[in-house]
Amino acid sequence: MNDKSVVVIEGEDAAPEAMRPTVALIDSLGLPIEWVRPAIGDEGMKKYASLFPEESRHAIDCADATLFGATSVKGFEALFYLRWGKQTYANVRPCRFWPGCNSPLARPEGIDFVFVRENLEDLYVGVEGRIEELSPLGLESSTARRPLASMGPGQYAIKLITTEGTKRIARFAFELARKRKELGRPGLVTCTAKHNMLPGTDGLFCQTTEQVAADYPDIDFETFIVDDFAHRLVREPHHFDVVVLPNLYGDVLSDAGAALVGGLGLAASGCFGDDYAYFEPAHGTAPDIAGKNIINPTATILSACMMLEHLEFEGPASKLRRSLERVYEEGKVLTPDQGGSATATQFCEEIARLF
Ligand code: ATP
Repeated sequence: MNDKSVVVIEGEDAAPEAMRPTVALIDSLGLPIEWVRPAIGDEGMKKYASLFPEESRHAIDCADATLFGATSVKGFEALFYLRWGKQTYANVRPCRFWPGCNSPLARPEGIDFVFVRENLEDLYVGVEGRIEELSPLGLESSTARRPLASMGPGQYAIKLITTEGTKRIARFAFELARKRKELGRPGLVTCTAKHNMLPGTDGLFCQTTEQVAADYPDIDFETFIVDDFAHRLVREPHHFDVVVLPNLYGDVLSDAGAALVGGLGLAASGCFGDDYAYFEPAHGTAPDIAGKNIINPTATILSACMMLEHLEFEGPASKLRRSLERVYEEGKVLTPDQGGSATATQFCEEIARLF
């Protein structure tokens, strides 16, 4: 096994309580991983008077991957660098039910799909402003049939979808569906957006994805308007395999998907670019439970498993995942969000005991 270096950023509020035992678990697998802990947030401020010092950026550049705990504010600059700086355009968020998890559904068994969320474009290009600023453009609302400038005061936001950005996320989704098909999944890509109301932006997303579908005749393809998709997601989640969607819908609907299989505590995520990847739980920093050691580390552990696979430590990743599954099957040592009373530390110790 080749040596790897991984930047670990613990995050804020309750996030470090999930990250620390996760790193300890990986350490107990005895892998040749060197953990690099650059100064970010408060520590960066103290040492270098910056929330995201140049040294920390360099550490990320030099590492084979980054494992990122959730952040609310202080780690944003680092997160933006990992996403836009490193062009990690594909946010992969698996939703898979494991027996023993706290799903609200009557029959969650067999739910196993993946959101592939475009991670850099859409409303997340971060261009907002005052409506009045738009008046020199003379734009008119196509629905209200009024000059936009007359509709203020208020704020606007830019939604941006590019052909290239959509092509690469669509290809990523089809390639993933192909890999999953080899492992016995149905080989289906579902594309969803609001292309009826937004024929320009979301229309481009759906049309471009459909064009890419033509290069993958072995993979089935379907499109749903996003509100219809939300309904189907709850009614028939077993139907889905790989779901590709623009940034904002992906952000929102993947939290709903997490709820179907047992909640945010289980929601893993990996962000992939052409030459970099970082891994973080899909949930936030859980400030309401910070300091209690009751955060569910599963999302962080599963994100770490995705990272181990990315680093070609497939065997150890399966070993970790299998122990995690067994802890849920046995149902004796679970965190409060899953109906138990174990701490994050006890939960991780139980995983290690089952190795
Ligand atoms: P963000 O906007 O950064 O995604 P958020 O404000 O939506 O964050 P989260 O931090 O994700 O919120 O938390 C939402 C709720 O889910 C909170 O009640 C939190 O305690 C709970 N939660 C989130 N993650 C976990 C976890 N790993 N284990 C247990 N509870 C969690």
